[in-house]
Amino acid sequence: MTFHSFLIKYAEIGLKGKNRYLFEDALVRQMEFALAKVEGQFKVRKEQGRIYVDCLSEYDYDETVEALQRVFGIAGICPVVVLEDEGFEKLGQDIVKYLRDLYGEFDKSFKVHARRGRKNYPMTSMELNAELGGVILNAFAACHVDVHEPQVLLCVEIREKIYVYSETIPGPGGMPVGTNGKAMLLLSGGIDSPVAGYMISKRGVQIDAVYFHAPPYTSERAKQKVVDLAKLVAKYSGPIRLHVVNFTDIQLYIYEKCPHDELTIIMRRYMMKIAEHFAKENNCLGLITGESIGQVASQTMHSLAATNEVCTLPVYRPVIGFDKQDIVDIALKINTYETSILPFEDCCTIFVAKHPVTKPNIKVIKRSETHLEEKIDQLMEEAISTTEIINIE
Ligand code: ATP
Ligand code: MG
Repeated sequence: MTFHSFLIKYAEIGLKGKNRYLFEDALVRQMEFALAKVEGQFKVRKEQGRIYVDCLSEYDYDETVEALQRVFGIAGICPVVVLEDEGFEKLGQDIVKYLRDLYGEFDKSFKVHARRGRKNYPMTSMELNAELGGVILNAFAACHVDVHEPQVLLCVEIREKIYVYSETIPGPGGMPVGTNGKAMLLLSGGIDSPVAGYMISKRGVQIDAVYFHAPPYTSERAKQKVVDLAKLVAKYSGPIRLHVVNFTDIQLYIYEKCPHDELTIIMRRYMMKIAEHFAKENNCLGLITGESIGQVASQTMHSLAATNEVCTLPVYRPVIGFDKQDIVDIALKINTYETSILPFEDCCTIFVAKHPVTKPNIKVIKRSETHLEEKIDQLMEEAISTTEIINIE
């Protein structure tokens, strides 16, 4: 069966009042961006409060639907058959053919929902509902009408041409990326941070990312894993500028000068500072991490407070109240899990103490950090100036 068009249903952005067109335009842009990677020629257009994707050439149906299912802001995707207006009798025949192609011997309960976008059509919507219902009942012995809870709602829209659809494929929901500013994701090779990036992006936020690596303690493959994760997140969020910071000298310096049980916390505070530097440089309005309360020593309430204390931008932690399994479920859904569990060390796991503090005291931490005064500013500057930027498409 060939569908000529897709009708896009959107949920929340329909509620945005006067700014609605901004959201619609952002949605159109994101759809165009997603479809650019699909083979075939498409035209995305707005018409009377609707968004359509017209398929202008041969195309791969599954690939097209999959691409649209990654565009935030889409609530549902309806594959549409477009018919020429050649009179009622031909319309009835075409609709019977449509149902037969789609459902085989059509044996479901149904309701016809006709609408007229132009009022010069010779029948009213009510007449169309009744007459088309009659044609369908005549064509398929085993079907019946149910106006309250039909299994199939057959929509027939009379416009310049006639649009017929009856299926809605669920979209990802959320808001179109680009409608809510930008944030900097601290992206590690773990399970949690790609999920965190996905969740914030789903609210319409554009994403850049920063990864701290520590060669030779962490391998090229660990870095490649993060690049691969960024690519997977970018399938939803659109392009990501990934900052790869060489963190080795800072880590070694902290290791040399500070109590080992405070290492992780102090290291994380410097990560946040550097992430914030790049956030501000890239007009980001906040930071994003994959932290979840109590998951590890560095994510107790005390540790989170100590990490947070160095930040001036808001830090968004969308999985903060999630159990690990909840996060894993999303990672599986968005296809990052397989990559996240590859076994390469990330820089945190190399320098962790046997017994890290779980209730760090900020005053004590700050006192320890005074041991870093001699070189830390210079090391931070070096780390920032040698940062590699990878543009993830
Ligand atoms: P994840 O599964 O996201 O790696 P995690 O459970 O391993 O998280 P931590 O290592 O404590 O937890 O990291 C907490 C958060 O800090 C991560 O979710 C991520 O946002 C950030 N982070 C940790 N390590 C790095 C790193 N090497 N580069 C960038 N961000 C990092
Ligand atoms: Mg990690």
